[in-house]
Amino acid sequence: RRTPLIAGNWKMNLDHLQAIAFVQKLAWSLKDARHDFTAVEVAVFPPFTDLRSVQTLVAADKLPLAFGAQDLSEHDSGAYTGEISGAFLAQLECQYVIIGHSERRTLHAETDEQVAAKVVAALRHNLVPIICVGETAADLELHGPSAVPVAQLRAALAGVTRAADIVVAYEPVWAIGSGQAATPEQAEQVAAALRAVLNETLGQDVADKTRILYGGSVKAVNIAGFMREPNVDGALVGGASLDIDEFSGIVRYQK
Ligand code: 13P
Repeated sequence: RRTPLIAGNWKMNLDHLQAIAFVQKLAWSLKDARHDFTAVEVAVFPPFTDLRSVQTLVAADKLPLAFGAQDLSEHDSGAYTGEISGAFLAQLECQYVIIGHSERRTLHAETDEQVAAKVVAALRHNLVPIICVGETAADLELHGPSAVPVAQLRAALAGVTRAADIVVAYEPVWAIGSGQAATPEQAEQVAAALRAVLNETLGQDVADKTRILYGGSVKAVNIAGFMREPNVDGALVGGASLDIDEFSGIVRYQK
């Protein structure tokens, strides 16, 4: 019913020349393996400076890959030095944009209000926001597994109207880059709670069709367990998305 999405967040890795080589190899690897892109969608999230190159390559070779940016500005244009408008991303044929990644929240002090404004900005430009939520190890101890992600999602949806096309990514901060992934059961528990928030705020139709991804130390060896869970519809992959064999192994997970 929901098409699974495997998304590679490159973070600040691969310049535009490396990006071209990487995307070409990834596409070949998946084609060789006869990957059915309509059964499992694949998207990459390169740095801003790579996007034009990736767009050109994807268009020229008609690659069945989606791509998007790792962040955007809540504003459309103006005196915002260093910021990138959703309008620019839409011009580059980005389909998605990651919003509220824990590294943005922590290292750039992004607030729930900014995340909500960025989600509205993305939707204004017909970009599908991938809204990231997740608790720290301290949150987990203090508040249990779902409280913080649920509150973050509620806040992020403040300006979203019904029928919006969005993706949610549950990324426990303690699992990101730590090699210590959540268990499939933990991911499912929070994903179910997040789907309940979608149901309550945006209605059943949106809740039913919205994909909820798990992220945090996803690898080819652990992806299948997550994908067996009813409320987990894919993965947001960091480190392992930079290795062709590993990433294509994740894409070709076996239930
Ligand atoms: P890792 O897969 O490296 O743990 O990173 C997850 C992540 O932050 C994806 O956005």
